[in-house]
Amino acid sequence: MSLTLIQNAEVFTPEAIGKQDVLIGGEKILSVAPKIQLETSVDVQQVDASRYYLCPGFVDSLTHITGGGGEGGFKTRTPEMQVSDAILGGVTTVTGALGTDAVMRTHLELLAKVKALNEEGLSAYFYTGNYHLPLKTLTGSAQQDIMLIDECIGIGEVAIADHRGSQPTSQMLAEVAAEARVGGMCANKAGVVMIHVGSHEDRLTALFEVADNTAIPLAQFYPTHINRNAGLLEEGIRFARAGGVIDFTASTTPGFIAQGEVPAARALKVCLENGIADTQVTFSTDGHASLPTFDDSGQLISLEAGSMSSLHDALTQCVLELQLPLSTALKAITRNPARVLKLTSKGQVTPGSDADLLLLAPDDLTIHAVMARGQWFKQENQLIRAGTFETISKERDY
Ligand code: ZN
Repeated sequence: MSLTLIQNAEVFTPEAIGKQDVLIGGEKILSVAPKIQLETSVDVQQVDASRYYLCPGFVDSLTHITGGGGEGGFKTRTPEMQVSDAILGGVTTVTGALGTDAVMRTHLELLAKVKALNEEGLSAYFYTGNYHLPLKTLTGSAQQDIMLIDECIGIGEVAIADHRGSQPTSQMLAEVAAEARVGGMCANKAGVVMIHVGSHEDRLTALFEVADNTAIPLAQFYPTHINRNAGLLEEGIRFARAGGVIDFTASTTPGFIAQGEVPAARALKVCLENGIADTQVTFSTDGHASLPTFDDSGQLISLEAGSMSSLHDALTQCVLELQLPLSTALKAITRNPARVLKLTSKGQVTPGSDADLLLLAPDDLTIHAVMARGQWFKQENQLIRAGTFETISKERDY
């Protein structure tokens, strides 16, 4: 087993715990302590991190790893995520989903990509199902997918309040949630239903109806894009107050901002000002999704792709522009999503957790180094390891 000793880093677990050494063995964190001494005969790679913050690798709860929709025709089908896209954005765990298009994009392709990313050294999972009900699945039922397929941890994204969704009733959503819930329980997985929330004024009404009228708890749903506009954010705060966790999309476009989107960092600040605990909010990249802007009549105006660097962008904005504590901002992209997705070895710097770590420069929070499952992918501000078919080019670094 290879050993790495990262010395004297300012550690954020995500809580700030001061200067620590972190010992890594194989894929795991073995020890976190102020001074770790090893026998001189032990072969260990020592890394001086005294000039850096050390934090968990980012956990992304929604990534379109095989590409998202393509609402402007086939030429606008967004491309697959590459290993370097995640690494350069500080993301070490991804959760894949289909997007608007579940005809040309399939769960088989999604599962193959999940397996490939795991082989490459990242950590990847996926949601079964898709935007539209009835759900498409791999084995014939979503419950069965969650129970039979190791990498499948829930259902998503199911679209509500969106002109691209199947306009499901609350009864239909309750049935989906019941499948996810029982599948999750039996397989000891999260079994959440990731809900894509569109811009229609129905907002989260259907989810509240399920919680009010059935035995399904509100927290079975994990709604995303809650920062889409101020009205939805307000309703999201109500959802969080009622015990749910809300997700903000960190990827954005000038068109989205012009149409009233609240940037993820600012949305977190609004939540905190409204008394929402910092454990109730997550950010996801929506990476490689198509991000289409429609006019009032539903016509496509422009389309861009979600960025894997958006979590880091949002973190930087939280800390440097909005003066939020680094630990608070980190929770939204490390421990909180790991908890919601029941990925117990992810999102924290503690003994026994997976060795997914970042070193950040304290002044501007640039990502100096990335370790995923015990292997360095970026060191000294340089990408040193990427996907099998990728070339490592210095120009791509930032
Ligand atoms: Zn979505």
